[in-house]
Amino acid sequence: MCGILGYTGERRAVEVLLEGLAPLEYRGYDSSGICVIDEGRLDRYRAVGSLDQLRTVLDVAEPSGATTGIGHTRWATHGGVTVENAHPFTGCDGDQVAIVLNGVIDNYLELRRELEGLGHRFESETDAEVVAHLIEG
Ligand code: GLU
Repeated sequence: MCGILGYTGERRAVEVLLEGLAPLEYRGYDSSGICVIDEGRLDRYRAVGSLDQLRTVLDVAEPSGATTGIGHTRWATHGGVTVENAHPFTGCDGDQVAIVLNGVIDNYLELRRELEGLGHRFESETDAEVVAHLIEG
């Protein structure tokens, strides 16, 4: 079962999200990710494995002091356990929308084919990514 978290406030979002995802580890997960918004730009950080792997990615990337973001621990249901399949997902325009999803989308293949027909390009094998593309329109 995944964990989902969002934050907006005064503190550095990356730190709050990491703190908030840690107590959700007991639910089980195989990968994790965070996306923060900084001056209109979406910055994503994702890793396979434990939150420690995500911490390592964040240590290397040295994210900004953005104060709004979302986080996710994934229990894969659709698509392998890879960085590409880790949430959050953005649409084609990587700076318009970012989403995380808990659960499954039964008709995702139908939606994906429809969206691909409209020109959307997908980066993952997951059911979840269709939500980002549906929202960006
Ligand atoms: N179905 C989604 C996926 O496989 C979300 C799974 C979850 O709830 O963590 O990416």
